[in-house]
Amino acid sequence: MKKETKWLEVCDLPYCDEPEELYHKRVVIEKMRIEELREKASQLLKKSLESLTKKDYLITEIWLFGYPVEGKHNTYWVGYKKYNGEYILSCNCSAWIFNHNKNRTCKHTKLLAGQFEISEKLY
Ligand SMILES: [Zn+2]
Repeated sequence: MKKETKWLEVCDLPYCDEPEELYHKRVVIEKMRIEELREKASQLLKKSLESLTKKDYLITEIWLFGYPVEGKHNTYWVGYKKYNGEYILSCNCSAWIFNHNKNRTCKHTKLLAGQFEISEKLY
């Protein structure tokens, strides 16, 4: 029984186009199966399991794990954060933290949103 569980955790499949970094984080580090990701995506995005898309999975993984964005000198982590009642992309760079742009974005959140064609604001 225990062995069967382990097999599922280690040998889970990536969803279509799952970025390598996120697949590694989900399956190898977090041992999260695709069914679990589906449940979380459904809860986070308030959608039924049947209506979820691969972009919803991607958004959920970025929300859960964050995603690295290369800056000029450092790698920054971009993820979703609840801010004033909305989920928006956040970053750990000083421009985002100190809100230099006065709109809670930075070049890393814009880069990630552009790279994956996702919204900087979830809802
Ligand atoms: Zn940033």
